Amino acid sequence: MEKGVIFNIQRYSVNDGPGIRTIVFFKGCPMRCAWCDNPESIAFKPQIAFHKKKCINCGACMEICPKGVININHKNRFDWENCNNCEKCVNSCPTEALEMIGRLMTVDEIMKEIKKDDAFYNKSGGGITISGGEATSQFKFLQELLKSLKVEGYHVVIETNGLITWEKLEKIIPNVDIIYLDIKGIDAEKHWQNTNVENAVILQNAENLLQGNCKVVFRIPIIPGFNDFLEDIHRLDDFLSTVKAKEIHLLPYHRFGEDKIETIQTEQKSLEIPSMERSELETIRRKIQHSGRIVIVGGE
Ligand code: SF4
Ligand code: SF4
Repeated sequence: MEKGVIFNIQRYSVNDGPGIRTIVFFKGCPMRCAWCDNPESIAFKPQIAFHKKKCINCGACMEICPKGVININHKNRFDWENCNNCEKCVNSCPTEALEMIGRLMTVDEIMKEIKKDDAFYNKSGGGITISGGEATSQFKFLQELLKSLKVEGYHVVIETNGLITWEKLEKIIPNVDIIYLDIKGIDAEKHWQNTNVENAVILQNAENLLQGNCKVVFRIPIIPGFNDFLEDIHRLDDFLSTVKAKEIHLLPYHRFGEDKIETIQTEQKSLEIPSMERSELETIRRKIQHSGRIVIVGGE
């Protein structure tokens, strides 16, 4: 049976869709957003996080590591290139300073977790949200999971950055109730500089999706100095009008990802800008609010 790399299954969430939901986080993302708040989701393989503040330097991890890739007395404490993810160090750590991020799971294993909360979904009108990372990057596994969810009658939301061919995207639409599509910027050059990918395919997918029957919610992270200039907002507004967007969630920049950067092996750097208050997005919200369009701040 196909396996996917999943880095978290979060129960009892009241965000990311209607009602009480279970969020299944896929690991791995092809984008490199400078502001990513889940840097531990970027690498496709499982990896180990080191929480320095919890470490008491007991040396248990160093003693047990069969590959000899831990040296607590060296400034480069871990040689991750040669780690085989055996998890022995994680299990030996008395303070949970080491954490495994991501593990291989089958669809059946995920469904078993999901089913634990059937009563909550039924009572609240909730369901399952597929998030990440970027779930469409593990396309075959995603298809299998979505089919199983559909067979069992779950309400399904998928959060995606839209970086996928239309041919693939339209294959998953029948098994999804709501698509949360991230639009990180309209300007092609700026998009490339801040995410390391082009936005043409994403914008085209947005247009195609709005021509179909699937409910689409646009989620737009507002990042100071990247996409919050007046010109950016005008272009965003024009784009939303062109595709006839009906629901938009503006997401204020926050620094949740910053603390995680130092716990994992990543090339991501701190943006060193403060988190935004929701109230700071009110002006932008008003600028793109038109009749027939719902625009809210938050909704994450
Ligand atoms: S996961 Fe295994 S190989 Fe990697 S550092 Fe820990 S004990 Fe060593
Ligand atoms: S086992 Fe845990 S607490 Fe002990 S040195 Fe290793 S990381 Fe630190």
